[in-house]
Amino acid sequence: MTWINASLKLGDILLPRERINERVAEIAGDISREYAGERVVVVGVLKGAVIFMADLVRVIDDSVDVRMDFMAVSSYGDSSTSSGAVKIIKDMDTFAEDEHIILVEDIMDTGLTLSYLKEMLMTRNPRSFKTCVLLEKPERKKAECAIDYRGFEIPDKFVVGYGLDYAGKWRNLSDIWHVVEG
Ligand code: 5GP
Repeated sequence: MTWINASLKLGDILLPRERINERVAEIAGDISREYAGERVVVVGVLKGAVIFMADLVRVIDDSVDVRMDFMAVSSYGDSSTSSGAVKIIKDMDTFAEDEHIILVEDIMDTGLTLSYLKEMLMTRNPRSFKTCVLLEKPERKKAECAIDYRGFEIPDKFVVGYGLDYAGKWRNLSDIWHVVEG
């Protein structure tokens, strides 16, 4: 599917901010229970995961010692469909060995990015490794990578907002929108 050449405008809202906030709080509750008394390094994949991660970490309970880190990646191939080969633009700063890691992504489409990152981070011998993904498009899945904390399953339609962009635009929107050709 090629999105990048089309001129797109906002269509309808798929997930309103209230629903997103509710779900983020539920996920934070699960994380709070599972990691109470532990240190966990929450690693966001730039730039799409930033808004989700910022909201998520602020509603995790104080009983968890939360550290924040980031990675930036780019996939080879065109900008809308990933080939599976992932280039690390920025690695996480934390030494991952013996740490509880939660990798946070905005959306899992084919799963290629996430499965690549998981494989790479597992070689660093973390104490534990989990994935936290706001949106999953199950229809598009090519690579197996378990999602431990999932926000929503969505159909295979391009979405923007709440961190997700189209050509750099619309990341700041508080709701998640479908786009339509304009
Ligand atoms: P994959 O899971 O295929 O390796 O790639 C996930 C990446 O594809 C996401 O991080 C995101 O950059 C991009 N992507 C996939 N579907 C969408 C979508 O509906 N909207 C936006 N904005 N990006 C998407």
